[in-house]
Parts: sequence; C-alpha cells; structure tokens
Amino acid sequence: MLRQVNLRADMVRQGTYGRKVVRPMTPRFITIHSTQNYSAGARQHSLALKNGALRSAKTRFGNRIGFLIWHFTVDQGVAIQHMPITEQGEHADFGGPGNRLSIGIEMCENRGSNLSATIERTAKLTAVLMKRNQIPLKNVVPHYHWPRRGKHPPNKNCPHFLMDHGRPGTKWRAFLGKVNYYYQQLN
Ligand SMILES: [Zn+2]
Repeated sequence: MLRQVNLRADMVRQGTYGRKVVRPMTPRFITIHSTQNYSAGARQHSLALKNGALRSAKTRFGNRIGFLIWHFTVDQGVAIQHMPITEQGEHADFGGPGNRLSIGIEMCENRGSNLSATIERTAKLTAVLMKRNQIPLKNVVPHYHWPRRGKHPPNKNCPHFLMDHGRPGTKWRAFLGKVNYYYQQLN
C-alpha cells in the first residue's frame, strides 16, 4: 500500500522557517485538511514550505512561529513529507491539541487535478500512519474538529469538500469508511 501512496520525503531543513523551532510530538491524531489553493500541487507546496513562503502572523494566541508547516501534502500523483511526525506542525489550532498532538495532512485541489485520486491517496496514507503509530480511526479528524481561539467561526470549514454545510456529515463518514477499508487491508 505504501507503494500506491508514492510517498516522497522533501523535508524543510531543520532550523529554518516552519522548522526553526523543534517541538517534539508523540502523534495521537491525524488531521485532514485541504489547501484551498487552486493553482498548486504537492511539489509546489513543498517548495513554498522549504522557501519560507507560507508565512502566518505570529500573535500571542495565534501562530507560534510565524510560518505554516504540516507533515504531508497529497495530490493526485504523490504524497510528500515535509517534516518528521515526531515534531509539531502549525496547521490546525495554534497552541491547541490539534497542533500539539496531530499529524497534519493537506490535500491539494488544484484546478484540473483528479480530486478523487487525491482523496484515495490520502485515505491510504492515513491508514498507513494509523498502523505505524497505533492511532485509532476515531482519532482521524477533519481540521473542523479543532476550534481556533479568537477566530470566527472557531471551527474551520476544512477540508471543505468533505464537509456538509460546513461541518462533518455524510461525506466525512464516507471518507472515514475508505480509511477504515484500507486500514483493515493492512491488518
Ligand atoms: Zn485546514
């Protein structure tokens, strides 16, 4: 299954940008996002992370380091890893448990890409990460799951194409069904 995921490592250099501060993590959750960037696939996101192009305002209760960073970006053809899963990212809820305890996966939705292929690849990667890290299906959550202090609304409509009316519903349950199907194949 890992071969089908087509996982590549293209790490942000330790000590730079999103990895300038190393915060150790034992992952207990997997958080699923979508990029809401309609012109970039996984390789472009990887470059942007390595070049420090994805800045975010650093505020008292907001982003802790001034950059966005997450663990994996998935598109229709590849999954790219940007940082070790033993380090905390900045992708979910600032200083909250989403960042402190979860592996962040971004799904690409660039125009013309095959979104269902991206979703399948994401489901397979999620299953592999569950198996490796003993993470149960109930701890696979959408970004929506983690409220963001000081933001309105606190619960983001993300990944928006797997939400129903801005929150988890039928589409999210169908995605979890796919993840569980692949997870069972690994057991
Ligand atoms: Zn998100």
